[in-house]
Order: sequence, then structure tokens, then C-alpha cells
Amino acid sequence: MKVWFNGRITAIEDARVSCLAHTIHYGTGVFEGIRSYCVDDGHAIFKLKEHVARLFTSAKALKIHIPFSTEELELAIDMVLLANDLSDAYIRPLVFFERGGMGLGVNTEPLNPVMILIAAWRWDSYFATIEWEKGISVQLANWKRVFAHPSLSNVKAVGFYANSYIAHANAQSAGFSDAILVDEKGNLAEASAANIFFVQKETLFTPAEGAILPGITRGTVIDIARELGLRISEEEIFHERIFLADEVFFTGTACEITPVTKINKKTIGTGRAGRVTKQISSAYQQLVRNGRQVPQRQLVC
Ligand code: PMP
Repeated sequence: MKVWFNGRITAIEDARVSCLAHTIHYGTGVFEGIRSYCVDDGHAIFKLKEHVARLFTSAKALKIHIPFSTEELELAIDMVLLANDLSDAYIRPLVFFERGGMGLGVNTEPLNPVMILIAAWRWDSYFATIEWEKGISVQLANWKRVFAHPSLSNVKAVGFYANSYIAHANAQSAGFSDAILVDEKGNLAEASAANIFFVQKETLFTPAEGAILPGITRGTVIDIARELGLRISEEEIFHERIFLADEVFFTGTACEITPVTKINKKTIGTGRAGRVTKQISSAYQQLVRNGRQVPQRQLVC
């Protein structure tokens, strides 16, 4: 695998980091998850500009100065795909602090330099589902979605994922694919690395911004739903309402549109992907592939 590391393409084995890197100890980095799709004339990176912009917003919120421009990183992402001969791929830019001082401060001597890694690989399906329509089974427990401060809810910081990790790990130990987290008041927030939607009586509901990362896929799905003429409501939703849903699905760059067909062992709707979920998923697949038709989630090259 070739990666882009601080300004140049290199073999991953040569992208070396100290085990005393600040980010490994304190979770101070920021990152992105981006997908590229195979299209008729090569590859198309879905919402590249939005993802790179969010990377810069995240970095700024954590007072990390990225020593490259947005254009340079956009180009670097393209270079990583070409260097690895990838079209359908998942792309992971990571901005982190290297070894320097071992205190929390990064601006006192010795300084902790900012490092940037961009890796890419084929990642067929985030949830190891054998058949898309069967969906996944998830756990709604009492794990809270936490942010260090409300102003950081749009920030993809490495450290926040310790919380996602533990919610996900507990759900997995109990035999589920993932967890649904709630906010401080017990309202639905999101999954460990995805947003949540549900359909009830022909209306699409999703938790309002506040205790969620407002995902780029979430925004895309809201746009698709409006175009399809669906009623959509972003609101505070007490967690128990999810059990009244006719359909539930997760959205995210990695998991795209993933039907959720069981929550805490209770079957949702028919136990298969519902009509609205299918409609939204096929519109999403067409959009990310510049109009190319593919039946549900499928890598084509
Ligand atoms: N919430 C969390 C916590 C996530 O990690 C992700 C994945 N980035 C999402 C939501 C979905 O965001 P997006 O659609 O931008 O990938």
C-alpha cells in the first residue's frame, strides 16, 4: 500500500511515527472518511470538497494548523488513489501531532510537529452484511454520545472515538452489529460512526443537530428525501420512539445506507429493508456513481 505522508507518496512501511506521538497519548488528531466510486470515466470522489473542508474545520477547532492548502490535500487524495490503482475505495486522511514535548501543550519546546497521512483501501461493506436487504441488528443501550463541548459537535476528533469504540464494543460483545447512542436527555443521537433515520407513517425522522456529528451522508439523504417528495423532520426524538418505526436505517460514508432491521432483538417493520430505505439507497447509489445504475451496494471495480 502506498500512502501520502507529509507531502509525498511513499510505501506505508516508510511512513513511520514515534510511539511517543502526542496523538497516540492524548487523542488530539482529526480525521476524515471519504469514499471514491468507480464511474464510467474513472473514479469520482463523493463530496471531496465537503470532506476536506470538514477536516480543516475539525483541525481549526482543535487548534491544529494544517501546513497544506485544501487544494493540495484534494490533489493528494487523488494521488493516493492513482498510486494504489483504486477506484472503489475508502479514503482516510488523518492529521496528528508527532513526538515533541510530552505535556499536553504542543507549542512549547520541543514542538510537536503536525503530520498528515492519507491512506486508501477497498472497503466493501462497513457492516459485514451478507445480504444488504437483511439489514443489521443493533443495540440501543444507555451509552451517551459525548462531546467535550457543544461547539465541537461538528468535529471529527480522534479522541471522541474512544466513546464510540466502547459503545460499539459492548454492542458487539452482546451479539449486535453496532450501538445506538443517546444524548444527555435520553434522546436518540447516532450510531457509533453513523447517523440514524427512521420512517414512521410516511415521514422520515432524524435527530436534530446538537448531539450528533451532522454527517455529509445525512445531509445528502435529507436532500434526496426532499427531491423524492418525502416529509422529513429533524427533531429531538426520545429513544423509545424508535421501536414504533416502520423502517430504520443508518447513514455514513463508510456504511452508506444500511438498513437496521432489529433493535434489541425486536424486529423493525418486516425485518427486511423497507420501501423508503430502498428508494433512498438506490437514489444515493446513483448519485455517488454519477448516475450509473447499480443494484444496492456493490463494488464494481
Ligand atoms: N456520526 C459519526 C460519529 C461518524 O463517525 C460518522 C462517520 N463520519 C457519521 C456520523 C457520518 O458522517 P458522514 O456521513 O459524514 O460520513
